[in-house]
Amino acid sequence: MSDRKLRFETIQIHGGYSTDHTGSRGAAIYPTAAYHFKTCDYAARLFELKEFGNIYTRLQNPTTSAYEERIAALEGGVGALAVASGMSAQLIALTSLADSGDNIVASPYLYGGTFNQFKITFRKLGIDCRLAENDSAAAMEPLIDGRTRAIYVESMGNPTCNVPDLEALAALARRYDIPFVVDNTFGAGGYLCRPLEHGANIVVESATKWINGHGTAMGGVIVDGGSYDWGNGKFPAIAGPSEGYHGLNFYETFGNMAYIVKCRVDGLRDLGCSPSAFDSYLMQLGLETLSLRVRHEVESTKRLAEYFRAHPLVEKVSYVGFEDHPSHANAAKYFRFGGGAVLTVILKGTLETTVKFVEALELVAHMTMIGDSISVVTHPASTTHKQLSEEDKAAVGITPTLLRISAGLENVEDIIDDFERAFAAAFAE
Ligand code: PLP
Repeated sequence: MSDRKLRFETIQIHGGYSTDHTGSRGAAIYPTAAYHFKTCDYAARLFELKEFGNIYTRLQNPTTSAYEERIAALEGGVGALAVASGMSAQLIALTSLADSGDNIVASPYLYGGTFNQFKITFRKLGIDCRLAENDSAAAMEPLIDGRTRAIYVESMGNPTCNVPDLEALAALARRYDIPFVVDNTFGAGGYLCRPLEHGANIVVESATKWINGHGTAMGGVIVDGGSYDWGNGKFPAIAGPSEGYHGLNFYETFGNMAYIVKCRVDGLRDLGCSPSAFDSYLMQLGLETLSLRVRHEVESTKRLAEYFRAHPLVEKVSYVGFEDHPSHANAAKYFRFGGGAVLTVILKGTLETTVKFVEALELVAHMTMIGDSISVVTHPASTTHKQLSEEDKAAVGITPTLLRISAGLENVEDIIDDFERAFAAAFAE
């Protein structure tokens, strides 16, 4: 294809596509663990990273490669690595930056699983994750020191939907010469938000959500913006002799692809959380309708937010599209349509009435999921954020009657009827 600049909706269909020997237009699924080497010399060149090609599916797979190329183009990066889950994307992305003794400075508005990964597992690895009081540059700056190896935020925090000032944080990261890493799960594969355009150096994302879009596979991606200069002495594992590759220097050899190559050939090779070819196929298929699905879901979210705001049994609606949300201005600046496809509501009543409300829903699924084709309600206090202490829950705004709602692809009026029935059941005398 010629070199012309394509728009998002076109890239989501054409990105990464090339015909194979069969001429199949549908994405091909290659269910193989290994690949035939034509000669020993060719195999040796692959293993020495002198040539790129298929070695073993733990490292790469042609179905996955096509999907990686597509998501890199959609997020505006120079390369991507697909892995088995959003959590493993974070694990590889951050352990490729930080060693034992280093630290990461992060927003406190994080998905509950990430909070635990940072606080428990990373601590075991000797990586200190320092959560700031809030997601502003002013709150993060005092936590930075000479061993800080990343500034980390979610483009929209799960579940409170806080949107940080990405450009202010990117400026802070540049001032201290630290990579700025953004979890763009809520930015929906670059359709709603493109952090790399606002100064982020690296994007990680749970592809399980909007990228897949149908709740049919787990996945994660790391996208490298190619914008960080690794040659500043802070990253000897990237810009020094590599222990795992006979002294190869990723920075000198691969230039602006150094980080994403290292994530694959060191990170994925050693941690082994690779996606299956079939799941990569599902992700690729999901991407083809990403913009259409997300647009519908954003409109439904707005309608639901208005419905809940007018409801007498609702204490509070937190929706970035409303002016009273603390992140309204940042969402307007960084998110297409100024909103997202998730909102939270605090019901009046008690934990017991909230449980009855959730259990009375028939269409809206009670799950820990977002970005699915089905509308979903989640009760963070008893699920995603259950492991947090009462103090930590309170600090990030998780209360007993708070519900997170992710709008699906149904007709939103049927979803509203479902909520109305649940209110009647939960609050009946
Ligand atoms: N990041 C965010 C913002 C999430 O919401 C999630 C999961 O909900 C993850 C990361 C983890 O992704 P996964 O469940 O695919 O491992």
